[in-house]
Amino acid sequence: MDIGLEIADTFAFDILYAKILPASLSNYLEPQIGSFKNATASTSALWDTVSQHPYGQYVLKYLSPNDVKIYGVDAPLHLFEETPWTHASLLGRANMLRQSLTLFTIMTIFGWLLYLSVASLSYVFVYDKANFNHPRYLKNQISLEIKHAMSSIPVMVIFTVPWFLLELRGYSKLYWEVNESNGGYWALVYQLPCFIMFTDCWIYFIHRALHWPSIYKTYHKPHHKWIVCTPFASHAFHPFDGYAQSLPYHWYPFLFPLHKVSYLVLFTFVNFWTVMIHDGEYMSNDPIINGAACHTIHHLYFNYNYGQFTTLWDRMCGSYKEPDRELFDSKAKKDKKTWEKQAAKMDQIRTQVEGKDDFRVYEAEESLKKQT
Ligand SMILES: [Zn+2]
Ligand SMILES: [Zn+2]
Repeated sequence: MDIGLEIADTFAFDILYAKILPASLSNYLEPQIGSFKNATASTSALWDTVSQHPYGQYVLKYLSPNDVKIYGVDAPLHLFEETPWTHASLLGRANMLRQSLTLFTIMTIFGWLLYLSVASLSYVFVYDKANFNHPRYLKNQISLEIKHAMSSIPVMVIFTVPWFLLELRGYSKLYWEVNESNGGYWALVYQLPCFIMFTDCWIYFIHRALHWPSIYKTYHKPHHKWIVCTPFASHAFHPFDGYAQSLPYHWYPFLFPLHKVSYLVLFTFVNFWTVMIHDGEYMSNDPIINGAACHTIHHLYFNYNYGQFTTLWDRMCGSYKEPDRELFDSKAKKDKKTWEKQAAKMDQIRTQVEGKDDFRVYEAEESLKKQT
C-alpha cells in the first residue's frame, strides 16, 4: 500500500495537509512544547532513564517521525522526488495519525470505485437479468446490495488500516527490488499461485467458522440474505464478516516474501474474483476451480462449497457439492421448473439453518400480493 500512499501524498495529500496544518504553526506551538520538554528533563531524571532504556529508545524511535521508514523503505528508494509541499505540514508524511487518515480515505474511495465499476461492468455485460423473475429474488435487491456494500466498505477499511501501517513501517516481507528475493523474476511467477493457495485454505476455514450457528446469526447471515445473487452482492457483507475473510490476504505478506506490484495485482484480482463468483454466469464447470456455479450452490443451499478459489478444501473436508447440471444449460437454468425445484430445496435447508421465520421479502411474492 506504500506505493498508493506515496502517489496520494505526492499529488494530493501533501498539499491538503499543508493547507490544513501548515508547518508555520510550529512557530506558535514550539515554545510551549519546548518549555514542557525542558521542564520535564531538568526536573526529573525520568526522561533520561526512559530515553536511555532499550524499550524507551524503541518507543521514541517509533513516535519520532524523522526516524521512521516512510513507505516501508529509506528515502533513496522512494518513487518520486520531494516537492515544495513534502515538508510543508505540521503533520509529516511519517506521522501515524496522518497515515491512518490518508489510508482510510484512499482505501475507502478505491474500494468503492473498484466495487461499483467491476460489479457494474459484470451487471451490464455478463449478468443474466432473467434472474429477476426467480422466485427467490428479493424485492429491491440491487439497491439493498449496493447500500449494504457501500456502508460496510469504510468499516472494513478502518480495521484494515493497522495492517497497512505495519507494512509501511517495514515489518512485512513485501519488497520492491526484484533481486531482493531468492527467486528473482521466477519468484514473481510462483508467488501468485502460492498466495492463492495459502489464502484459499484459510478463507475456507474462516468461512466455515462463520457458518457456526452463533456466529452465523449475527455476522454471516447478512451475506446470505441474497439467495439469487447479482454482482452487487459480492461486497455486501457484515463488516466483520468481510474483514474476517480478508485476513489471510494480510497475513501472507507478513509470512512470505511478496513483490509490491504482485501484491497490488493480487489485491485487485481478489476483488474481481469476488464479483465474478456472484454474477451467476457459470462459465467454468471445472472440477478444480470454485467458480460462480459453486458459489451459486453455496447461496442456494448454504451448507456446501465454502471455498473461494478452488474446490480443494471442500473436497477434502466433505462439503463439496457438484453444481446442478441445469446451471450449465442456457435454457434449463432459467426454466420455471428448475427455479421451483431450487426454491423448494432452498426453503427446506434454510429452515434447518435459520429457523422457521424468513426475514427476506421476495419480489415474486410481493407482486403476487399486489395482483390479488
Ligand atoms: Zn457462507
Ligand atoms: Zn457470497
